[in-house]
Amino acid sequence: MSKLFDEKLSALGITLTENQYEQFDKYYELLVEWNKVMNLTGITEYEEVNEKHFIDSLSIVKVVDISKVNTVIDIGTGAGFPGIPLKIAFPHLKITLLDSLNKRIKYLNTVIENLGLEDIQTIHGRAEDFARKEEHREQYDIVVSRAVANLSTLSELCIPYVKIGGMFIPYKSGEIEEEVKEAQTAIKILGARKKEIIKFTLPGSDINRSFVKIEKVKNTGKKFPRKAGLPGKEPIK
Ligand code: SAM
Repeated sequence: MSKLFDEKLSALGITLTENQYEQFDKYYELLVEWNKVMNLTGITEYEEVNEKHFIDSLSIVKVVDISKVNTVIDIGTGAGFPGIPLKIAFPHLKITLLDSLNKRIKYLNTVIENLGLEDIQTIHGRAEDFARKEEHREQYDIVVSRAVANLSTLSELCIPYVKIGGMFIPYKSGEIEEEVKEAQTAIKILGARKKEIIKFTLPGSDINRSFVKIEKVKNTGKKFPRKAGLPGKEPIK
């Protein structure tokens, strides 16, 4: 456990048990080990992983009261960010991790098993395909996604999963007003509305994080998401 990590957690108002610290350390070890044989992250130094992956993933607590959230899906989770840190710090969450790369899903299953996490599932597949399945469509309180696509495309991948009254909260960075403006039509067509943009720097650093709170107000039309690949190739305008 690191004092620096602890200070940053405190700045976010998060306190962990001994077991949760151990889970973060084990997650770090597995990340570095598996990263030698597959591409998971460019960041491997301990404090840097704590900051840029763990603290960053958890920084969503600044924009939403996690104690009131039950179900979360992380679209394009990659090595498990932000979904796994959220699950470790907030064990009450029911988390679904979705990614189209099976190697990463195998890694995530190993992490889940080694850390003894419960109420967490992984899905290997494209976001566009699983959003059509009844057990996932409009089922989630919160949909999160970090570093996957521009907001127009990402809205089509994510908003179909949000239940009415729930939120899509993408992890973005820096000045995102223009990107949000360009996604306004997509957000509306998909049955949601932009509530607010929240920007801050991560505790004890100058790393920018910007969140957009997007609220689901009505059902997403049946034609969305379009077939796999199209949301990226031809974003809704
Ligand atoms: N969210 C992680 C993070 O912030 O470290 C991973 C980001 S990585 C740059 C993007 C991930 O999104 C990859 O693992 C990729 O396989 C996944 N991805 C991209 N498009 C996808 C889609 N349409 N459906 C499911 N996963 C997708």
